[in-house]
Amino acid sequence: MTDKNLIKIAEEFGTPTYVYDAESIKNHYEKLTSSFHKSTRFFYAAKALTNINILKYIKNLGASLDCVSINEVKLGLKAGFTSDKILFTPNCVDLREIEEAMGLKVHINIDNISILEQFGNKYGNTYPIFVRINPHIYAGGNHKISTGHIDSKFGISIHQLRHIERVMKSTNLLVEGLHMHTGSEIKDADVFLQGLEIMFELAEHFPDLKYIDMGSGFKVPYQEGDMETDVKTLGKKVEKAVADYQKESSRKFQLWFEPGKYLVSESGHFLVKSNVIKQTTATVFVGINSGFNHLIRPMFYDSYHIIENLSNPKGPERIYTVVGNICETDTFAWDRKINEVREGDILVFRNAGAYGFEMSSNFNSRLKPAEVFFLDGKAHLIRRREEFEDLLKNQIEVL
Ligand SMILES: *Cc1c(COP(=O)(O)O)cnc(C)c1O
Repeated sequence: MTDKNLIKIAEEFGTPTYVYDAESIKNHYEKLTSSFHKSTRFFYAAKALTNINILKYIKNLGASLDCVSINEVKLGLKAGFTSDKILFTPNCVDLREIEEAMGLKVHINIDNISILEQFGNKYGNTYPIFVRINPHIYAGGNHKISTGHIDSKFGISIHQLRHIERVMKSTNLLVEGLHMHTGSEIKDADVFLQGLEIMFELAEHFPDLKYIDMGSGFKVPYQEGDMETDVKTLGKKVEKAVADYQKESSRKFQLWFEPGKYLVSESGHFLVKSNVIKQTTATVFVGINSGFNHLIRPMFYDSYHIIENLSNPKGPERIYTVVGNICETDTFAWDRKINEVREGDILVFRNAGAYGFEMSSNFNSRLKPAEVFFLDGKAHLIRRREEFEDLLKNQIEVL
């Protein structure tokens, strides 16, 4: 997909609009699968981007699906994933939501002792489960997206192994999988190897173990100088670690990973329009027809998205601060060099496929953007832009 395609899409469908390039998703998926042993399975972390067309496309590539809510499970089934290809990894849900997932026959991952106990008391070994372990590996990245640290609410601390064992013994639980997910944007891929070693040690305590799920944390580059997780090297190192383990143990486990961002981030281009150029004493602002209600990552995680001017790609570079239209601090980028921006120009945010549309809201009674899927050279509208009526859709007027 080229910038010419993007300009045409902006003209045809208007802005703000999220555009996803199918080919990029496919390339990343193939890069992953070709880097690891062929028995390795990849569960796309649906929460990064759940448009039903994206789910179907990723299903057709051959991936499985990781879901964090019962509705993601239902979306996955609707997209055609079979139940054995869905893993439900919720946190802070009640037993009822887990029972609903049992009814849908998907793999279930339990992440606290309380539910583990309730589940065991009620179902014993009649339904195999995964246990989510927090190995307390501090995986770097942003504190807000790191889940492995000691204060994290995710998983059952590795220090509570005895407690897990006690629950297993007293309720006859059947643990078929162990899971860890230490967070996003892991800079040092050796974190995965460290995690794998821990999982192999833990496996001793779980006689029915079939699967080891290493979660995600694959990094994608957001700005120049950023690196992408080197999956080729990681795949080789993992294969060696497995081979070393197999020298000492006859037990075999299938390895799972749960990439979200890695599969869809780069595919996404967020198209917006420059509404006003506002020169103050200190800064030149570009005010765009969007805000953190459409793309919250910069305000929420201080994340960086490359912004380019598609309408004036050869214009002289100037320094801008790009801001949104929300009535709160709403800054997408400070002091950015962008080809001269004029009012009405189309700008693009790169790398906007993951946690972009997915985290959007109607704050300020603004409408959510459209979504377009670029597949085989053609742009398909896959979500219509919201209209005023959508704001009132679920409201009940009592006055
Ligand atoms: C969010 C999440 C992922 C995906 O993380 P990315 O950084 O997008 O790859 C994987 N597994 C679990 C359990 C998650 O919560």
